[in-house]
Amino acid sequence: MQTSNTTSLTSRHVAVIGAGAAGLVAARELRREGHQVVVVFEKDSQIGGTWVYTPQVETDPLGLDPARHIVHTSLYKSLRTNLPRESMGFMDYPFVTRAGEGSDPRRFPGHAEVLKYLQDFAREFGIEEMVRFECEVVSVEMVDKKLKVKCKRMRPDGGGDDLLDEVFDAVVVCNGHFTQPRIAEIPGINLWPGKQIHSHNYRTPEFFKDKVVILIGSSASAIDLSLEIGGNAKEVHIASRSVADDTYEKRAECDNIWLHSMIKSAHKDGSVAFRDGNTIVADIILHCTGYKYCFPFLKTNGIVTVDDNRVGPLYKHVFPPIFAPQLSFVGLPYRNLPFPIFEIQSKWISSVLSDRIVLPSQEDMMEDVNTFYSTLEDSGVPKHHTHNMGDRMIDYNAWVASLCQCPCFEEWRVQMFYETAKRLNTNPKTFRDEWEDDNLVLQACEDFSKYI
Ligand code: FAD
Repeated sequence: MQTSNTTSLTSRHVAVIGAGAAGLVAARELRREGHQVVVVFEKDSQIGGTWVYTPQVETDPLGLDPARHIVHTSLYKSLRTNLPRESMGFMDYPFVTRAGEGSDPRRFPGHAEVLKYLQDFAREFGIEEMVRFECEVVSVEMVDKKLKVKCKRMRPDGGGDDLLDEVFDAVVVCNGHFTQPRIAEIPGINLWPGKQIHSHNYRTPEFFKDKVVILIGSSASAIDLSLEIGGNAKEVHIASRSVADDTYEKRAECDNIWLHSMIKSAHKDGSVAFRDGNTIVADIILHCTGYKYCFPFLKTNGIVTVDDNRVGPLYKHVFPPIFAPQLSFVGLPYRNLPFPIFEIQSKWISSVLSDRIVLPSQEDMMEDVNTFYSTLEDSGVPKHHTHNMGDRMIDYNAWVASLCQCPCFEEWRVQMFYETAKRLNTNPKTFRDEWEDDNLVLQACEDFSKYI
């Protein structure tokens, strides 16, 4: 990988798909790098993506019916961030409390505060003018080293859709990956008479009142939802695949919540058997089992695929070697600091497109990808965890930042991330309101004074 010596940078015609946090920061970085034409396609009528809460849910509560009307967001009404605002925000636009009606100054604010932050960000950097709202990209296809983008736009008179074609030098995909539910496979589930729902379609707990609920999963949202539902339901039984097979314990936070190992089978009499030997007759199974990457618009003749939730082949989670640099992805890594990673990946893409940074050859990128996949395999990491950053986050960020010659994560940001994860595990009920890392908050505020 090298930095080019060219002094005049190339300006390209770039399309960004999605105006969530990733698309907004990608648009800003592309503009900053001097790309004159940047068009952001957004199928919704406003910016914010995931952070645009709606009480609306899908017609199929499991989200499996391909004909269902898709609701983009997976937020529940009571959701507060699971990262402290200092570490969650973009690095050069701190997520501090800004004056204004209805602002939520909490360190772990509710979802509306995040949407407001993204709206402020878009306004501050003039991004809204670049967005074409209510334009859904339905196809992206490589034609003669350019990308043909087809988008569907509703006619202003409501009389059907127009399909519009446009050709770009590059496309940056920022369509989010928390919309297409992934469901746990349970032997016997087809005969089980209860109700199943995926957390994508969970908004409020009333539906669970006095019910016996089995909740599958152990992510931050699974923990939140078990506590919220626990306040309404008769019993909540958490099935987790990250605990030993003989695990069966009452949770300390609530006296009607139990933790089990995974489900072994479900039966037509309404019972569900766990690997720990217990059998529970349940009314509802709530799948908090995550999401699938999905790019229905990408037409790459099978070159870029989603295989067991691995999007590949991708060089460093961003560039498919054969289509690089024309096609790129922002925001695929998870278990990390999403907004700062989006920011750094966007800087990289913008600089590659302007020819300021030169990518390795296609062969070298492919070799790197294959080495990465082999390393995962040798370490026993399942394919579906390819984009799970975990402890790789710090090195990944430092590597991209050094290429772009921009600052990498501040020490306090990293420490805060790990402190929060620790508190979430030990005190899931109070981790947002009780903390001991005020020293890190102080360091963050000192750093923020550079930008505010
Ligand atoms: P999105 O926000 O999903 O935006 C994608 C955009 O693309 C959407 O606006 C969508 O309408 C648009 N789009 C999709 N397809 C098309 C198309 N074909 N044509 C045109 N437009 C299209 N992160 C944190 O940092 N802190 C948290 O506390 C946190 N909590 C979370 C809680 C939940 C329940 C979930 C689901 C996620 C949470 N996240 C959190 C992760 C969060 O999703 C990311 O932080 C971030 O908002 C994702 O941004 P994105 O731009 O990648 O995707």
